[in-house]
Amino acid sequence: MIVAIDGPAAAGKGTLARRLAAAFELAYLDTGSLYRATACRHARTGEAPAVAAKRLSDADRDDPDLRSEAISRLASKVSAEPAVRQALLDYQRDFAHRPPDGKAGAVLDGRDIGTVVCPDADVKLFVTASLETRAGRRHAELAGRDEAVTLDQVRADLARRDADDASRATAPLKPADDAHLLDTSDLDIEPAFDAARAIVAAAIAARASS
Ligand code: C5P
Repeated sequence: MIVAIDGPAAAGKGTLARRLAAAFELAYLDTGSLYRATACRHARTGEAPAVAAKRLSDADRDDPDLRSEAISRLASKVSAEPAVRQALLDYQRDFAHRPPDGKAGAVLDGRDIGTVVCPDADVKLFVTASLETRAGRRHAELAGRDEAVTLDQVRADLARRDADDASRATAPLKPADDAHLLDTSDLDIEPAFDAARAIVAAAIAARASS
């Protein structure tokens, strides 16, 4: 059972993906963290991004700067390199098809899971929210970690990162043709989760009866 969740930054994908994985006892992979870890390693070691992507260690994936704004920007930049995407592809596909801990399936969230990494996913969600909503959420998250950025900066950064992610030539951010669209602009986490859970439950039921 593979659940693919894509969407722009700070739309609520991560929270939904983590909760869906817990609810359906599936493994969870935050694929953005792989691109962030690649950016951290590239910045720390000076290795070319594609080399850094091939050599990712647990320490890179636990880097304290992983979720900073500087790394968000650098991750978006390195993720446009086809060689970086290729270096991370096998790991993601392997995780999806052979999930760890004997789990019966996996939830992956990112930008290209439904389109490139797992076009065969059993269920695909494309989670969006307005730029204003996403900027407010991301700003609150950064303020909680004492990063001094203004709402205007966060909004501008998100808009630029989304535009870069959506316009790159390789694996751009876009909904798969068969994705369910979920706009969380006016939804708190509970109703958003209920909607996502209903979509996944229906897919599991369809799979069981086929
Ligand atoms: O999801 P998150 O904001 O942590 O991702 C950081 C960056 O990594 C994104 O802006 C995007 O450029 C890149 N990314 C990607 N493909 C994915 C996941 C993330 O290109 N599947």
